[in-house]
Amino acid sequence: MTVDQEGVLRRYAAAVERAHAELTELDRHSGDGDFGDNLRGGLRDALRRYEKFGGAPFAALSEVFLDEVGGTSGPLFGLLFSELARALEADGSVRGWADGTAAGLAAIQRVGEAEVGDRTLVDALSPAAGALREGGDSAFARAAEDASKAAAATADLRARMGRASYVGDRAKGGADPGALGVALLFQAIAEGAF
Ligand code: ADP
Ligand code: MG
Ligand code: MG
Repeated sequence: MTVDQEGVLRRYAAAVERAHAELTELDRHSGDGDFGDNLRGGLRDALRRYEKFGGAPFAALSEVFLDEVGGTSGPLFGLLFSELARALEADGSVRGWADGTAAGLAAIQRVGEAEVGDRTLVDALSPAAGALREGGDSAFARAAEDASKAAAATADLRARMGRASYVGDRAKGGADPGALGVALLFQAIAEGAF
């Protein structure tokens, strides 16, 4: 199986345009309300950069999110995109996606120190990495499904990291916006796998 990386960038950007209001509302509920703008702004810029300069889609994502996107999530998504860009340059198969996702997860945890269950994007990224590591033709579909389920399940968690930890149990009831943002990425990847 291979994945159309340009298609992933385009579908992910389109999905985040559609989800912008929901992501904003969720971050308003548990944080400061800028997550939708951070993710959408980064994707718009990355798409513009890719259309202007070409190159690898995940390299454009990596450059924009590491250098330009604010919030806690900007640089963390940047680490994931940069590890994916690096791994996919070497290997565009499921194995490359698995390696890049695992390396991105490790980098995010090194910097952000969140564990699974802390109500962050790590909750969606970790099961996606696990599903991809198992490999096989259904790996992309399983990664998308597991990430989406895990993102939805963050609604029952109390945050131990990030801004949402300041509001304690009040964040419960809505899902973690960063986890949903990660789930949308793996949905876009699964839709581009053939
Ligand atoms: P900010 O809180 O600085 O406004 P954003 O709104 O851009 O940041 O991003 C919020 C998201 O960042 C959260 O929904 C959560 O998924 C993620 N996040 C916060 N802290 C961490 C952390 N330590 N490790 C991993 N992800 C985190
Ligand atoms: Mg925020
Ligand atoms: Mg902020």
